Amino acid sequence: MPLLSAAMSRIQPSATAAVTKRAIELKAEGRDIISLGAGEPDFDTPDHVKEAAIAAIRAGQTKYTIVDGTAELKAAIRLKFRRDNGLDYAADEVTVNVGGKHTIFNALVATLDAGDEVIIPAPYWVSYPDIVQFCGARPVVLPCPAEAGYKLTPEQLDAAITPKTKWLILNSPSNPTGAAYSEKELRALAAVLLAHPHVFVLADDMYEHIVYDDFRFVTLAAAEPRLFERTLTVNGASKAYAMTGWRIGFAGGPKRIIQAIAKLQSQSTTNPCSIAQAAAAAALAGPQEFLKERARAFQERRDLVVSMLNQTEGLVCQRPQGAFYVYPDCHRLIGRTAPDGRTIGSDEDLASWFLDSEGVSLVHGGAFGLSPAFRISYATSPALLEEACRRLQRACAALQ
Ligand code: PLP
Repeated sequence: MPLLSAAMSRIQPSATAAVTKRAIELKAEGRDIISLGAGEPDFDTPDHVKEAAIAAIRAGQTKYTIVDGTAELKAAIRLKFRRDNGLDYAADEVTVNVGGKHTIFNALVATLDAGDEVIIPAPYWVSYPDIVQFCGARPVVLPCPAEAGYKLTPEQLDAAITPKTKWLILNSPSNPTGAAYSEKELRALAAVLLAHPHVFVLADDMYEHIVYDDFRFVTLAAAEPRLFERTLTVNGASKAYAMTGWRIGFAGGPKRIIQAIAKLQSQSTTNPCSIAQAAAAAALAGPQEFLKERARAFQERRDLVVSMLNQTEGLVCQRPQGAFYVYPDCHRLIGRTAPDGRTIGSDEDLASWFLDSEGVSLVHGGAFGLSPAFRISYATSPALLEEACRRLQRACAALQ
């Protein structure tokens, strides 16, 4: 009898976590590495959030809480959904989990059976297909190339829906491309979904506050209120409030799903950390002005990186509307030869070349389901980004 479950054979370790680990190991060996792999803001958690956590510890909020979130945090989440998204969720329509990844994991485990299908536009966030496969369900990956702005079209969606489709996962702004759907684009997708009432939508809004220029973020259930009843609106503290280590994710959605998530969570993690919940409540209910300042800082970095990448031999880079990633196309470099004799046969080979020749660590497009490309996280200082882009320019120019 095999030791490990069949479910384990259906998933891979997270590619982004693997790249980050490799960069840390090489740094520890003394190599000069610039890591553009990690998907987390370089900003610190705001002071008032840290203070709320310290106050919670001092007040003895160190015990188990209600499994799917304290009353205080749920109130802050409902306030956030009203204020930022115009969505009115009742107290029993919100859930709190151990990070947004856990929210998504819970929702999919609670709803998927073998044979169910989940539509995932590619490039996608690395965990979606693996979680779906873990559940024994089938990811239906729809390629959304650069020419389509890395976005799903209504025609593509309509053609992919079958009687077995349980979910569409829609992530805007996107990890890994930064592409974001306008209200008009969401309405066009919603028109398709309205004709297929058995399909639920998981709207992953993790990067909603990191948007640029005059882009106005709208979430699907607000763009089309008739989809409110079958949309799970997922968000979290990690990206907007620079709280990746605190592990708080949450969602608003249909009561039956919210209750199922609580039941599942009661048999796994129990409540998210009581102190992190107090901190997240302070983040969501407290001052929000700094979010715009941080988005402006990210926008300057986006402009720097996009401009330098587009001056790099063989690369073409779109200018994304949000998140802190760019996803340059590198098809012109595939098939070239490096000075050490290696052939660049794929975007994974190219990522290895960047790491070996110039010490720049990033994630190849294959991990996100659309090649040849790679993802750069520009959530690091402009000086480091400039140096990293210079190194990439050298590494690309060296390929014949
Ligand atoms: N969704 C997307 C698109 C992400 O990029 C991430 C993190 O990288 C998550 C969800 C989960 O974030 P966390 O588990 O830190 O809340």
